[in-house]
Amino acid sequence: MTSRIFNFNPGPATLPFPVLEQARDELIDYRETGMSLLEASHRGTTYREVHEKAIANLRHILDVPQNYAILLLQGGASLQFGMVPMNLLGQGDTADYTNSGAWAARAIQDARRVGNVHIAADSQNDVPRRVPDINDLNLTETAAYVHITSNETISGAQWKSFPKTQSPLVADMSSDILSRPLDISQFGLIYAGAQKNLGPSGVTVVIMRRDLADRAPTELPSMLTYKSHIDTDSMLNTPPCFSIYLLMLVTQAVRKAGIDSMHNANTEKAKRIYDIVDATEFYKGTAAKECRSDMNVTFRLTNKDLEETFNREAESHQLIGLKGHRSVGGLRASVYNAFPPKGIDALVAFMQDFERRHG
Ligand code: PMP
Repeated sequence: MTSRIFNFNPGPATLPFPVLEQARDELIDYRETGMSLLEASHRGTTYREVHEKAIANLRHILDVPQNYAILLLQGGASLQFGMVPMNLLGQGDTADYTNSGAWAARAIQDARRVGNVHIAADSQNDVPRRVPDINDLNLTETAAYVHITSNETISGAQWKSFPKTQSPLVADMSSDILSRPLDISQFGLIYAGAQKNLGPSGVTVVIMRRDLADRAPTELPSMLTYKSHIDTDSMLNTPPCFSIYLLMLVTQAVRKAGIDSMHNANTEKAKRIYDIVDATEFYKGTAAKECRSDMNVTFRLTNKDLEETFNREAESHQLIGLKGHRSVGGLRASVYNAFPPKGIDALVAFMQDFERRHG
């Protein structure tokens, strides 16, 4: 095997190596069916088992109650920016949104195309980067729902606890789902593109209280209606079978490890990088300490002119994908569930050495 680099990309992101090996081994002849799963009918029992297993794993890991449906959809988290208001925001009603950063802003932009939006808190331009304080939300009493972005992938700010809201709480969890335990009953709907913590791109997970699906207007096309996906077990059309197969393998591994151990490992991995960032004035964290993300560790060099050199040298040490999002610059280490502790060792050693040479 050629050597694997340490992949700090924000998504698509590194996948568990044993999952890749299994997918390779099963690629041509899937479990002695004489064909690849890529070629199997989505209506056949072979694929059907994969589909159901993926959903069962998610239900088990997050302890999802039976009055919640788990959907496997397409269109990325971005389609959910529109589907959520199209299904849940009735004409003349208002939805509360928290504006915590670039991804929340995208959700707000699409919701405004559908109906009335009230901004319950706005921290998008705060420096250091942060998410709103859960005790400081200006909520509408009769809001159709309250929308938050649990982890801002670009700024590296993460909600550490969630507000208890009267209206259903809707969360974009694209970049931190399965990174920590959740009390699902606190939410009305959760959505997440798979390509960070769940598998490859192409599939989006939606976990929603079933009764909320009844709100959708009848004239909505079926592919945009949660109810029609619930009624068909996410088989309304041909699902992204191979992405769901990988999602099944990834969730199988998380299920085995347990969500608590996943969470402990994640906080430990992130902490080791933040400790280096905080040790001297050479590095500087981007997000406020109380909302620092365990998934996307964002930081800068106090001497910003050195950032390009940092990134170039990091690449020559097989540390790939540390460049911050093009809209904000700086540096970002995305260390999702599957990111190996050895990669943290390598980054920490590199950061210390870089500081010794350039500090
Ligand atoms: N929300 C968040 C928090 C994200 O990080 C991303 C992708 N980086 C998206 C939404 C958009 O996801 P997708 O590309 O799956 O539409």
